[in-house]
Amino acid sequence: MDASALLLALPDPLLLITADGAAQLNPAAQATLTGGTPELSGQPDWAALFTPEVAAALRGPLEAALAGQTARASVVLRPGASVTLVTAAPATPGPDGAACALLHLRQTPEPLSTALDFMDGLGLGVAVQGRDTRILQVNASATRILGLSEAQLAGRDSMDPRWRAIHPDGLPFPGDTHPSQVALRTGQTVRDVPMGIYRPGSDDWRWLHVTALPHTPPGQDTPEQVTTVFADVTDRYRMEADLRGSEQRFRSLVEATTQIVWDAHPDGTFLPPQPGWEAFTGQSEASYSYAGWLNAVHPEDRARTTECWQRATLTRQPYLVEHRLRRADGTYVPMQARAVPVIDDGGQIREWVGTHTDMSDVREAQQALIDLNADLERRVQARTLDLANVTRFSTLLLTAAGEGIFGLDLRGVTTFANPAAARMLGYSVERMIGAPQHALVHHHHADGREYPLHDCPIHQTIQDGQTRRVEHDVMWHAQGHAVPVAYVVTPTHDEAGVVSGAVVMVQDTTERERAQAQLRDVIENLERSNQDLEQFAYIASHDLQEPLRTVGSYTELLVRRYQGQLDPRADQYLHYMQDAVIRMRSLIQDLLGFARVGRQETPLERTDLHALLRAAEQNVRATLEQGGGTLEWHAPHAVLGQPSLLLQLLTNLISNGLKFHAEDRAPRVQVHSELDGEFVHVTVQDNGIGIAPEYHTRVFDIFQRLHRRETFAGNGMGLAICRKIVEFHGGRIWLESTPGQGSTFHLTLPVAPTPQ
Ligand code: ADP
Repeated sequence: MDASALLLALPDPLLLITADGAAQLNPAAQATLTGGTPELSGQPDWAALFTPEVAAALRGPLEAALAGQTARASVVLRPGASVTLVTAAPATPGPDGAACALLHLRQTPEPLSTALDFMDGLGLGVAVQGRDTRILQVNASATRILGLSEAQLAGRDSMDPRWRAIHPDGLPFPGDTHPSQVALRTGQTVRDVPMGIYRPGSDDWRWLHVTALPHTPPGQDTPEQVTTVFADVTDRYRMEADLRGSEQRFRSLVEATTQIVWDAHPDGTFLPPQPGWEAFTGQSEASYSYAGWLNAVHPEDRARTTECWQRATLTRQPYLVEHRLRRADGTYVPMQARAVPVIDDGGQIREWVGTHTDMSDVREAQQALIDLNADLERRVQARTLDLANVTRFSTLLLTAAGEGIFGLDLRGVTTFANPAAARMLGYSVERMIGAPQHALVHHHHADGREYPLHDCPIHQTIQDGQTRRVEHDVMWHAQGHAVPVAYVVTPTHDEAGVVSGAVVMVQDTTERERAQAQLRDVIENLERSNQDLEQFAYIASHDLQEPLRTVGSYTELLVRRYQGQLDPRADQYLHYMQDAVIRMRSLIQDLLGFARVGRQETPLERTDLHALLRAAEQNVRATLEQGGGTLEWHAPHAVLGQPSLLLQLLTNLISNGLKFHAEDRAPRVQVHSELDGEFVHVTVQDNGIGIAPEYHTRVFDIFQRLHRRETFAGNGMGLAICRKIVEFHGGRIWLESTPGQGSTFHLTLPVAPTPQ
C-alpha cells in the first residue's frame, strides 16, 4: 500500500519519516504540530517538529521502527496539553528501497479531561493546580465563573493578590488559607468552603463553594496536584442577602418609632441630614432634598400637602396636615404631620421642627368604630323592623280585643285607645286620644261623689308602678250615664326601666252585674220560699199534732168503751182509726224533725265519730238483737258539727242498713272514716238488698219509698233528713249500690280542727 495515500486518508496525525530524518506529515499532523504553517509544509527534519524533550523521547521508538520494530511512547506535546500516545511502526520502504517509519500520534482522552468535561456539563468549575498551586488546567465552566480566559488563568497560583478573596463576612481570605493550599498541605480533602473571588470588570465578587481534592501519586507521601472544584453560588448568596436585608429593614421598620422628627429651613426647604425621614421612607438624601420629600407623599395627597406647607411657611403659623407617607417597603402609612416654627431672639424663624405621627392605630380604631357603628345600625334597623312587626301585630290584637284598652302617659293623657274602649264609653278613638283620661271618663264615683285624681287607682299606678285590679267601679259614658266596669292597670316602662305611663284594660261589667243581681234575687227568693216551706212544715206539723191528739184521744176512748159491744166490723173500723192516728203521728213527727234540722242555734262542736257510733249502736241495739245483725266500725276521726243531728244521721243510715237486709244472710253494717282534705269521708256499708241505679238520687227526696209498707215499715223521710243534716254541715251525701249485694252510703263532714 502506498504510504503517502494512507497518510492522506487517516484522520489522526501521521508522520512518515525516512531514515535520513525527513518527515512527511498528513494534514492532521500538520495541524497539530505546525499549526498548518506553509513553510513547514515541505519535508522538514522530524526532530524540529517537536520540543527537544519530546524529540528525545521519540528518538528511541523511531529508531526501533526504522529497524523494523513497532514501539510506543507517551509524550506531552505542549505544557498543559493532554498526553499523546505515539506509535512508531516500520513502514513499507519507498521506491528507492530506503527504510522508513510511521509515527502515529493519538491524543487519548485522559480520565482527568473526561472528568473536567463532565463537571463542565454540571456547570461546576474545575481547576487542576500543581504542587505550587499554579493552575495547570481548567475547564470551560471555570473560565466562565471566574470571568478569566484559560490563558489568564494558566499559571496563576493561590497567593496571587488579584483574587482579592474574601470570607462571607467580608474579611480577607489569605492565599495560604485557600482550600487548595490547605489540601496540599494536609493531604486531606477540604469541602464546601464559601469564598468570594473578585471578578474583574464587573466590579463585584463571585461567591463560590470550593472543594479541594489533593492527588497523591502511588508511592508518594505528599500530594503532587490538587483539583479544585467550585460552584458559583453568587445568585443564591445575593438572594439570601436580599432576603436578610429586607427582613432586617422590615424588622427595623416595625421596631422603629412610629414618629419621625425632622427639621426644615426657615423658608421651608428640606435639607439633609434627616435620619428619621430616611429611615422611614428609604429616600436617599438626594431624593428628599428640597421638594423631593413630596415624592414620598401619596400622589393624591400631594397638592393638599404642598398647599398647607406653603401656607404655614408664609404665614409662620403651625403646619398641620394628614397624608399618606410611603414607607421604605412601599406601603403607604396614614400620618399626621405637624410642624412649628422655632423663633430666635430677634423674632426671626430659626428653623421649623416637624413630626410625622403614624395614625394607623387611630385610623384602624376609627375604621373599627365605623364598622361597629355600621353593624349597630344594621342591628338597630333589624330590631326596628322586628318592633314594627310586633307593633303591627299588637295593634291588630288591641283593635280586635273585646276588652277596652287605654294607653296613658305619665300625665294621665290617653295615648292609645282601642275601638272596644271607644265603643264602651261612647266616644270616638280620636276624641279619647290626647284627652286626660280621668277628667273625661272617670271623674265621679258611682254614687255621684266627685272622684279626686289622687284617689284614682289608675293615677296611683302611674305614680308607683304597681299593678292594680279593681272589680267594681264606674266610668262615664259620653251620654252621661255610668258604665259599671272592672279593670286592671299595668304600668309601662321606658328603655331605662322607669315608669312611663300605664295600660288600662277595662271590662264593661253591666251584663255581669245584671246576671249577678238576678242570681242574687233568685237565691234570695229560694231562701225565702224555703224558709216559708219550713215554717209551713213546722207550723203545719206542730198545729196538726193538736187535732190529731184529739182524734187519737177520742179513738182511744171509743175503743176502751165500745170494743166488743158493737158488731165485729165496728171493732175493725176502730182498729183502722187507731192505726191511722199512729201513722199520722209518726209522719208528723218526721216532718217536724225534718223542719227542725238547722233551726236550733246550737253552735257546731268537735264531735268524735267513734263516740257517736257507740251511741248509735245503743239506738239500734234492739234491732241488732232481734235481727241477729252486726255493726262494726273503724272511725278514728272527729268532725265539726251538732252532735244530736250527727247521731240522728248515723242512726238513720245504720238502721236502714239493718232494715233492708237480704233474706238469706244476717245483716251486717260497717262504718269507716278517712280524711279527705278539709273533710272526713264516712262510708256506711251494708250487705242488704241494694238499690237500683235509677233511685240513687231519688231516695234522698222526702216521702220517697221503694217498698210497700207491709214489706218494710217507714215513712220515706229518713234519707231526706240525712241529706238535710249533711248539707247543713256543708257536706255531701251519695250512694253506691249493686242490687242484691248491698249498698254503701258516702258522706262528707267538715273535719274538726285539731284541739290546741
Ligand atoms: P224509710 O226508711 O222510712 O222508708 P228512707 O228515706 O230512710 O225511708 O228510705 C227511703 C227508701 O230508700 C226506703 O224506703 C228504701 O226503699 C230505700 N233504702 C234506704 N236505705 C236503704 C238500704 N240501706 N238498702 C236498701 N234500700 C234502702
